Amino acid sequence: MTTVAFIGLGNMGGGMAANLAAKGFAVRAFDLSADALDKAVKAGCIAAASAAEAVAGADVVVTMLPAGTHVAGVYRDSAFGALPKGTLLIDCSTIDVATAKALGAEAEVAGLLAVDAPVSGGIAAANAGTLTFMVGGTDEGFARAKPVLEAMGKAVIHAGASGAGQTAKICNNMLLGASMVATAEAFVLAQKLGLDPQRFYDIASVSSGQNWAMTSYCPLPSVGPDSPADRDYRGGFAVALMLKDLRLAAEAAEGADAQTPMGAKALELYEAFAAQGQGEMDFSAIIRSLGPR
Ligand code: NAD
Repeated sequence: MTTVAFIGLGNMGGGMAANLAAKGFAVRAFDLSADALDKAVKAGCIAAASAAEAVAGADVVVTMLPAGTHVAGVYRDSAFGALPKGTLLIDCSTIDVATAKALGAEAEVAGLLAVDAPVSGGIAAANAGTLTFMVGGTDEGFARAKPVLEAMGKAVIHAGASGAGQTAKICNNMLLGASMVATAEAFVLAQKLGLDPQRFYDIASVSSGQNWAMTSYCPLPSVGPDSPADRDYRGGFAVALMLKDLRLAAEAAEGADAQTPMGAKALELYEAFAAQGQGEMDFSAIIRSLGPR
């Protein structure tokens, strides 16, 4: 039986660890929060008293933590220099590309195999085991990570070398943030010019303006398929998380000397929206900030 150490049992990691346990992996779980650890134990995981205790003797280490500093802390304090050669490290958190690449290189020096494997899909997909994983790492790392990730998701895609998973994730979410703003402003303008929003949807959804934010996640209530807009913008993907990803994209763009003016504008708008106390709302609620000028 494959033993997996799972570090970070929050909104996402809790459901992911539970799915691994349900699919027959021996899961040794650790989180700084006692409540999160209790929930994981109830879902079939074995509690560890520290990250070091969880990873000792594990075949695979999965992390699902808030940011790069947390992942680097766990890797440097508890994995590098402590784990036997060949142990597989899978980081599913969304972190900055530079840290992901640096940790991949440090793992190689330590004789460990590391992949970055951030996810698309929110808490519901984490609980249902239907996440999409985009994986950065070697062919060997990808091949070994695949069966573990398949126990938590519906799609596992090899993006490229170390850091490529995080690159795919932030480029995708930068596009999503910018296209949500663009979709929202098109609806606002159409409405202000006297066009019925449902009519606009019927036309644009089969015309060249069609995009995912419009036809799968429409920011207007009662238009398009069921979406967080129909639940007063509750649930879904929080503004604070979109903001985090847009900041990571801006940071990576600066480091790579890439021009991302639409991403920068989306970041500015989401920053202003979050500053108005809207960080917990679904990110499609940005339409509410596009009121009268
Ligand atoms: P969360 O804050 O709910 O969970 C993080 C957990 O990590 C917490 O339980 C915290 O106690 C624990 N933790 C922090 N530092 C630790 C340490 N040193 N050792 C052990 N445990 C530690 O966050 P989340 O929503 O589960 O998100 C996790 C990651 O997934 C983030 O990188 C996020 O950007 C990404 N993500 C989240 C979503 C989403 O919808 N929530 C979607 C896609 C990706």
